[in-house]
Amino acid sequence: MRGQTAPKDVSSSSNPSLLLSLNPATLRRDFPILERLVHGKPLVYLDNGATSQKPRAVINAISGFFENGCANIHRGVHLLSGEATQAYDRARATICQAMGAARPDELVFVRGTTEAINLVSRSWGDLHVRAGDEILLTEMEHHANIVPWQFLARRAGATIRVLPITPEGALDLDKLPSLLTDKTRLFAFTHVSNVLGTVNPATELCRIARERGITTLVDGAQAVPHGPVNVGEIGCDFYVFSGHKMFGPDGIGVLYGRGKLLSSLPPWQGGGDMVERVSFEESTFRPPPDRYEAGTPNISGAIGLGSAFDYHALLNWPELREHEHALAAAAHEALLSIPGVKIQGTVPGKAPVVSFTMDGIHPHDIGTILDSEGVAIRAGNHCAQPLMARLGIQSSARASFACYNTLEEVETLAKAVRKAHRYFG
Ligand code: PLP
Repeated sequence: MRGQTAPKDVSSSSNPSLLLSLNPATLRRDFPILERLVHGKPLVYLDNGATSQKPRAVINAISGFFENGCANIHRGVHLLSGEATQAYDRARATICQAMGAARPDELVFVRGTTEAINLVSRSWGDLHVRAGDEILLTEMEHHANIVPWQFLARRAGATIRVLPITPEGALDLDKLPSLLTDKTRLFAFTHVSNVLGTVNPATELCRIARERGITTLVDGAQAVPHGPVNVGEIGCDFYVFSGHKMFGPDGIGVLYGRGKLLSSLPPWQGGGDMVERVSFEESTFRPPPDRYEAGTPNISGAIGLGSAFDYHALLNWPELREHEHALAAAAHEALLSIPGVKIQGTVPGKAPVVSFTMDGIHPHDIGTILDSEGVAIRAGNHCAQPLMARLGIQSSARASFACYNTLEEVETLAKAVRKAHRYFG
């Protein structure tokens, strides 16, 4: 049963603090965890590239579902199931509108970016990629946008090719024409680099690929957290992202697929809720998105993600983007004033992701000293080993900001990095 009358809204039980977003200090009040102390010091959370913190509105939407409306969707004849189904479908419609998709059925709920790319590599890839074909990636991809294509290349007998980056960390677009050949079937690239912060010209890249009849997949995991993304304007075939990096819960994300293309593809997992008729001889499948959502989906996750999009819609993104750029600029300036610090990724207009190394100090040691000061950053290869190899390093420290971070927190970061320099430098 997909619809019942007079449903209760189980997707939210309280409103976020409306339109307080102009001032990041006020915005912070929507995120209860930011009040926490860590090792007796105020938490300075700068690991947003790994996962963002959650506003109370999202927390309430999820707990509201479990307290008032928990039921499975699409199956029950009872009231709760109808309400849950409506809340699940409403989340998809909200995301469709926010992302400029043509119809909600262009959006498939998945576990996250990684699962979305694996889905495309199976459903689209096995249908369209043959021996001798080429898949073009870039040097700045996360492992999630490399390994599934390697699996596909191995299955099909295809070849992976790689668009290099410049020393500043931009894509080397002069090399693009020679890499897009008659054999190229797919160009898969990240919208925003999780290491360099580089914002790639997704619309332009998709236009170039489209003119050559090449399918495009854009990894939006690090783009969606920093304001609205419009898939219609980008003109991509596939766009993928994870909810947990944009104030939503983990275990839920979205695959956008252009309508006609998505409905031409076979399912990748079989089970309940994705079939029309089943016999022991054969099965027929429902249209998207059901065809790609076999089994009970992450219902509370989808409702939480819808609520994260509702929350995003309340924010003044032009202003918050300026604020995020100011945070990144301040972090660059403060860190570069410390002896031995090098920053990876200096392309103008970058997203607020600041990766850095320090002479003589392992990034894990930087991370540990910062943690003792209450500052949470990431240290490691950031699931981008090919990029690390290109940069000539094994790992780096990474401070990644969200719109709720403040300039005072940048100062605390710099103070803690100076402490690491005094210890080891
Ligand atoms: N792509 C990029 C650019 C990322 O930064 C990440 C995660 O950090 C992913 C893909 C994978 O996301 P998830 O682990 O949520 O599937």
